[in-house]
Amino acid sequence: MKIGVVGLQGAVHEQIEATKRAMLRSGIQGEVSWVSRAGQANELDGIIIPGGESTTIGKLLVATGLFEKVKQKAMAGTPVLGICAGMIVLAKEGDERTMHAGQPLLGLMDIKVIRNAFGRQRESFEVDLGVPAFGKEPFRCVFIRAPVIEKVWRDVETMARYQGKIVAARQHNLLAMAFHPELTPDTRAHEYFLRMCKG
Ligand code: GLN
Repeated sequence: MKIGVVGLQGAVHEQIEATKRAMLRSGIQGEVSWVSRAGQANELDGIIIPGGESTTIGKLLVATGLFEKVKQKAMAGTPVLGICAGMIVLAKEGDERTMHAGQPLLGLMDIKVIRNAFGRQRESFEVDLGVPAFGKEPFRCVFIRAPVIEKVWRDVETMARYQGKIVAARQHNLLAMAFHPELTPDTRAHEYFLRMCKG
């Protein structure tokens, strides 16, 4: 199995390491690569867009040609996991400022996202949340200037909420998380994504 982490800006290394740990735990033979050019994405069975700064990631996706490539592959069924800034980039709709600024969004997932939804007072925090798709044990969720999903439509499934707001969701081959699973030793979120990539 070949998984690529979009490595233009943000928490790329941590994401690669967490995906490797999840492969090891689930007994999957595979490679995890750092993807920064469109040509490197052809053979991938799964793509991860990490956290970082969504405005920068969006612009660099366009500049490298990865914008069209990731979009094409996702539309052809390749699983894509978007984490935090990556979740914003997956969305069809952003908040008013995002839309007004013309921030590039892949527009793949039927979700509306709000950037920096927890405000400046609470830039980062951790909380245990029930995420039934990952199993019975609560999952440690690390939020860093996190967005939330304000609205979902069509067949998007809500996977987790915090304070009533949606913080994880799935639509077929697309998976979005507002928190950073790569920053905890728990590999269940990445293992879940790898199962999607197995088909
Ligand atoms: N606040 C960032 C953004 O809007 C996302 C933060 C993150 O990815 N940790 O792009």
